[in-house]
Amino acid sequence: MDSLEKRIAKEGRVLPGNVLKVDSFLNHQIDPFLCMDMGKELARIFSDVHIDRVLTVEASGIAIGLAAAYALQVPLVFAKKRKSLLMTDEVYTAPVYSYTKKETNTISVLTQFLPAGENVLIVDDFLANGEASLGLASLVEQAGSRVAGIGIAVDKAFQNGHERILKAGYRLESLAVITSLEGGRVTFQEGHEC
Ligand code: 5GP
Repeated sequence: MDSLEKRIAKEGRVLPGNVLKVDSFLNHQIDPFLCMDMGKELARIFSDVHIDRVLTVEASGIAIGLAAAYALQVPLVFAKKRKSLLMTDEVYTAPVYSYTKKETNTISVLTQFLPAGENVLIVDDFLANGEASLGLASLVEQAGSRVAGIGIAVDKAFQNGHERILKAGYRLESLAVITSLEGGRVTFQEGHEC
């Protein structure tokens, strides 16, 4: 997606550890126009499959998740990272090692918000080692539903996640595919069409 790649090229900052900081439009301040356009684009890409709901994980997945769910006209559910006293009912859970925080969280969703027999689109802001996406896929499968696909805003395809998701047999669609952050420079996949 050209507008996203241009924005990354202009405002993205590469931090040590292959972390791309996009705080000015996605992860801290959010550009609502770009975000809604990303949601529309994901809805267009997945328009060939039926989708019942969108699933993401708090906190940074919520903006793009909401944009995608709005465009698809379906509910958005976000997995919680910390157990809340409010979550007294039954939950599906999965362990997820956080790439940026270097800690394992148990993500959870109330079973009532992940019914069986649905097609669920997983959406997240970044793909690194695939922990978050695969954890979300596990929640969908525990619920007895099907992963319709995984939609990512920024896919750091040189890390493990891209390969792991494809190997696991999921459909992966990414709006911006980065092949290298070496030397503090962002390199996008050549000829990537969105
Ligand atoms: P994964 O679970 O695929 O290893 O990492 C994806 C998750 O970690 C995303 O939900 C995102 O919040 C965070 N993340 C991973 N890499 C980056 C990055 O380079 N920049 C930012 N801002 N977040 C990242």
